[in-house]
Amino acid sequence: MGDTNLSAVLYAEDDMRLEEFPVKDPGPGEVQISMHSTGICGSDVHYWKHGRIGDFVLTTPMVLGHESSGTVCKVGSGVTSLKVGDRVAIEPGVPCRVCNYCKTGRYNLCREMQFCATPPYHGTLTRLYTHPADFCFKLPDNVSYEEGALLEPLSVGVHACRRAGVSLGSKVFICGAGPIGLVNMLTAKAMGASKVCISDISEGRLGVAKTMGADSIVLVNTKDAKAVAKQVETALGEMPDITIECSGAESSIQTGIYATKAGGVLMLVGLGPAEIKLPVVNAACREVDIRGLFRYANCYPAALEMIASGAVDVKPLITHHFTLEESLEAFETSRTGAGGAIKVMIKCAKQ
Ligand code: NAD
Ligand code: ZN
Repeated sequence: MGDTNLSAVLYAEDDMRLEEFPVKDPGPGEVQISMHSTGICGSDVHYWKHGRIGDFVLTTPMVLGHESSGTVCKVGSGVTSLKVGDRVAIEPGVPCRVCNYCKTGRYNLCREMQFCATPPYHGTLTRLYTHPADFCFKLPDNVSYEEGALLEPLSVGVHACRRAGVSLGSKVFICGAGPIGLVNMLTAKAMGASKVCISDISEGRLGVAKTMGADSIVLVNTKDAKAVAKQVETALGEMPDITIECSGAESSIQTGIYATKAGGVLMLVGLGPAEIKLPVVNAACREVDIRGLFRYANCYPAALEMIASGAVDVKPLITHHFTLEESLEAFETSRTGAGGAIKVMIKCAKQ
């Protein structure tokens, strides 16, 4: 301890400060990382503007950011998997490793999860960050730092497509063409989906989805869920086997139920209002399975392989670049979507 480094620290709602923050030396099994890139996620923006998400409430100052990559600069005792100079992506959630969820591989459900920039745990918008080595993934030379940072949202896509059972020939409908909808679209295609239709209320975002490989798009301009479901069926030529809801909007989740083929799956990825009205009898009588999703577990390796092999190209998601010193402007751009912002990247390294 003693050393400090520039960090984006949230003190309270609407009170993010760029200031010197203590550096943590790597303990046993940990590495210190000279941070390179951190992408801004909707949850970072939400903590910034509201100081809380559900039951997670900011009570002490917290460094923001959790989609990140950098270079190992110090290695703690016992670390054999990484060495100084290795470029890594950081999986931001570290579970207890010993509970039943952890032992059975569903560590995203661990009650002791320590997740970057979820209070009270610090995030990665800093120059020097320390993390357990086994939650760092070495990047091959052909994967950039920014792509490494995007392994985080891409892992949400991998987890959602796995849980939904996307496979060869699946017809998939994705609601919402934000970063999460787009990574789900890329993953579904890489996993063999034959047709992917994506919806949004924004024409601009649908345009991006189209250039990134959507087979069809649906511009939503009504809250009439049955009407939108009909549009989806027309766009795909049939009803989708799987719907992956990535907007959280009430009418969109309703659409997800009506749109999905009988016997299919509706995956709830988007998180909107805590309580909403849904046509559950329709889902029940047509055996549409509604499945929840919380982040990801064991998905970083597959996400990394997809990028390294060229099976997916996440680079078009990145629309804006800022330095750590410009964090406030970066957050504002992400919040407003100004200039067609989709994924805003912050370069944490000193310029
Ligand atoms: P985003 O806000 O950038 O994207 C949401 C998109 O949905 C926007 O483009 C918006 O225009 C569109 N939309 C709004 N209403 C719509 C409607 N009625 N029909 C179709 N599209 C509509 O957010 P994001 O970063 O892409 O994240 C998407 C959602 O996923 C958020 O709710 C986020 O909280 C959630 N999320 C959940 C998990 C999880 O573990 N379950 C992880 C990451 C993100
Ligand atoms: Zn656990």
